[in-house]
Amino acid sequence: MEREVLEVDVLLVGAGPANLALAYRLSQLLGEDAETFVVLIEKAKEVGFHTLSGAVMDPRGMRELLPDFLERGCPVEASVEEEELWFLTEKGRLAAPFLPGPLDNRGGYVCSLGRVVRWLGGLVEETGRVEVFPEFPGVELLVEEERVVGVRTGDRGRDREGNPKPTHEPGIDIRARVTVLGEGPHGSLTKSLVRRFELRKGGNPQVYALGIKELWRMEKGRVRAGRVVHTLGWPLDRETFGGGFLYGMRDDVWDVGFVTGLDYRDPYTDPHGLFQRFKTHPAVRGLLEGGRLIRYGAKTIPEGGWFSRIRPYVDGCLVVGDSAGFLDPLRLKGIHLAVKSGMLAAETIAEALREGDFSARALSRFERKVEESWIAEEMRRSRNIHQGFEHGLLPGLLNAGISLVTGGRGFRDRMELKPGHTRIRKLAEQYGPNPPPFRRLKPDGKLTFDRLSGVYESGTKHEEDQPVHLHVSDPEICRTRCVREYGNPCTRFCPAEVYEMEEDPERGGMRLKINAGNCVHCKTCDIMDPYQIIDWVPPEGGGGPRYTDL
Ligand code: SF4
Repeated sequence: MEREVLEVDVLLVGAGPANLALAYRLSQLLGEDAETFVVLIEKAKEVGFHTLSGAVMDPRGMRELLPDFLERGCPVEASVEEEELWFLTEKGRLAAPFLPGPLDNRGGYVCSLGRVVRWLGGLVEETGRVEVFPEFPGVELLVEEERVVGVRTGDRGRDREGNPKPTHEPGIDIRARVTVLGEGPHGSLTKSLVRRFELRKGGNPQVYALGIKELWRMEKGRVRAGRVVHTLGWPLDRETFGGGFLYGMRDDVWDVGFVTGLDYRDPYTDPHGLFQRFKTHPAVRGLLEGGRLIRYGAKTIPEGGWFSRIRPYVDGCLVVGDSAGFLDPLRLKGIHLAVKSGMLAAETIAEALREGDFSARALSRFERKVEESWIAEEMRRSRNIHQGFEHGLLPGLLNAGISLVTGGRGFRDRMELKPGHTRIRKLAEQYGPNPPPFRRLKPDGKLTFDRLSGVYESGTKHEEDQPVHLHVSDPEICRTRCVREYGNPCTRFCPAEVYEMEEDPERGGMRLKINAGNCVHCKTCDIMDPYQIIDWVPPEGGGGPRYTDL
């Protein structure tokens, strides 16, 4: 097949905070050099549609990138005015009397990262130095002689079986002197880059959590913008990492969400169900009652920390932001680190452009810059935090306390970590030889909702007649071993009801049904499937959620 080839100098994949910061900083560094052709591709229909975070933003990165970011209209909701940490039991709550320094968010800003990213995308386009192409997913790395030379974008107009439709347009090969992957957590190109170039060698595996959030519109005067509440405890069991949050936004909107560690042990864990139950706690219910669900979304968070980051460079390619693992697991914050990593990558690229050298040796300066920056300073302090939670909440909190007073040492230095999917128990290990059936929470349609209502509020849309973008390499395992061994956890961990087990009229028993059109691109299935047989690949460009304020 004939493919168009586009030759560029710098190709950025993914319009998140890291690559947008990179694009903006690079345009400053290039000055009047009109020769450099920089292209940014994004799989979403518009920049920001696939961006979701808590978020309470630490402004350190943004302030370095744009010292006058507030004056220039950065759309933050409010500065953090009031902050609480609650330990929840089923009916009660205990408020922490004080917050340890790193957990204190005063000085930060409650924001919708999607809005911030859209604003930053606008500034990048205003520079006139960067071409931004939405609806262009990167589907394959172009590698020649162990050097990344660009990315192939996805085809449009193929039917469910993969045959070209009359509207078919082949993807293009974008060849670049340097390619930067900023795809967010567990990006599909990053995954293949890490495997091919063994970028995790010697480090810990990355582990993730799934964050699910909703926006609630309340009556006037019910929400104080800038109020921040974090919770620990109920409804999680003591083996599972995670907690809840409520952030007060402008215009009487609550940003409410729940994070579940994707290294849980009970195969019946249902992150969406846990979130819905969290909202029924008397302390949370009291805040939300009378309000209306207006948005929904989900995304994974790479929370392994410093020892789980990858080597972020190879010949011709850099990796930035969440994709590289730059997230502080103590504060569960990564926006400021993403922005800073983008800025450091921009400096590295500007030097490489001057010298005409994009070898791994030249690009390794990026890693050195990270190690000499406050990214390393902050992440080293929390380098053993998540590992402590492998043994449950209480040891995790004790280890976190020791980490705080020892500058990051924790119980040991360095503490190992297992991939999250290897920790899930089989049904028989968890429940004995006769496991009870799984019971899903019955939503009331007022405070609690099912996953399809959430998908509706996420604005998710895909072209229906296209190849399924969730590749299950051996569906036979789903109907045989997985039913018996784990009870098909994909039907619970997916926050968008993509996976269903249905009766198989031909062979009897059950078979897997994939409702790919519901997918909100969170990547949980690719991460948490115990057999590692699910491969998430980008669907046709422009498909997926349409997050507007998340
Ligand atoms: Fe997330 Fe996978 Fe479900 Fe899509 S199919 S929403 S990526 S868990």
